Amino acid sequence: MSKNKLISVIVSCYNEEESLPKFYTEINKVAEKMDYLDFEFIFVDDGSKDNTLKIIKKLRTDDKRVKFVSFSRNFGKEAAMLAGLEHSKGDYITLMDADLQDPPSLLPEMYHIIVHEEYDIVATRRVTRKGEPIIRSFFARMFYKIINKMSKVEMVDGARDYRLMTRQVVDSILTLKEYNRYSKGLFSFVGFNTKWLEYENIERVAGETKWSFYKLFKYAIEGIVAFTTAPLSIAAFLGLIMCLIAFISIIVIIIKTIAFGDPVGGWPSTVCIVLFVGGIELFCMGIIGQYLAKTYLETKKRPIYIVKEREED
Ligand code: UDP
Ligand code: MG
Repeated sequence: MSKNKLISVIVSCYNEEESLPKFYTEINKVAEKMDYLDFEFIFVDDGSKDNTLKIIKKLRTDDKRVKFVSFSRNFGKEAAMLAGLEHSKGDYITLMDADLQDPPSLLPEMYHIIVHEEYDIVATRRVTRKGEPIIRSFFARMFYKIINKMSKVEMVDGARDYRLMTRQVVDSILTLKEYNRYSKGLFSFVGFNTKWLEYENIERVAGETKWSFYKLFKYAIEGIVAFTTAPLSIAAFLGLIMCLIAFISIIVIIIKTIAFGDPVGGWPSTVCIVLFVGGIELFCMGIIGQYLAKTYLETKKRPIYIVKEREED
């Protein structure tokens, strides 16, 4: 038995048949370089519809460091990362994408920092969004501005899920049992000393992104609902302002009626007011609805993922 420390590389894969072999070659090169560590590669097949699982199994037959968990359907990347973390045994744990957008070649540097500089987490953030649609970048920036104003938990713009963590950090993350998982927030929530490495955006090697604009939008709302209740306060505040405006208007109308009589008129303004107030009411109800919906999902305590298959020992 070797006494090397074990490092778990967790890779979530959804329809990554094209990227996987390339990824494996790369990570293998890095593992060879870091021969002072033992590696385990945990591939989480998130219900892929292509040959991803077959490829993973083939890798497994040739290399026993390869482990896998395969879901019964697509549960999303958050679920895949959780499954990977739960199945990992390493002293150090890293999360990576299969598309090589998270360069495995950074790993030796990350490991060096964690071991020699007393950090618990080395995380990465991309400083550019090269190759991304301009509108998407714009909304992403807006999202980070807004959520950081509202939430106490800091969300770093451009932060990727690619990170190296100690066992202690991963164990803390695993104590957070919530159903609606927004990992970027969960990682910040647990704290610990984090060092950020920056790099330029790298485009994926093959295949295409699974994130549509709509999916990203929903994900953003999830992040906000999961990490701040500020929108609820905003709704309450809006209600208060509306009451104040109504109160002032009532006084103005009473005085006007006493002074100038009561000529009929002003129905267009009435319609505008009714629509405006109705709109604000619905908007606030929508906000409350979001929180209620998330609470509803949490109370059901459904499993976050369902495993169909994993490697035999
Ligand atoms: N992924 C996943 N489940 C999903 C969507 C994506 O496991 O439902 C994986 C995907 O295979 C990849 C990583 O998550 O390894 C990042 O996905 P993608 O490259 O599509 O996202 P982007 O890099 O464009 O943000
Ligand atoms: Mg990608």
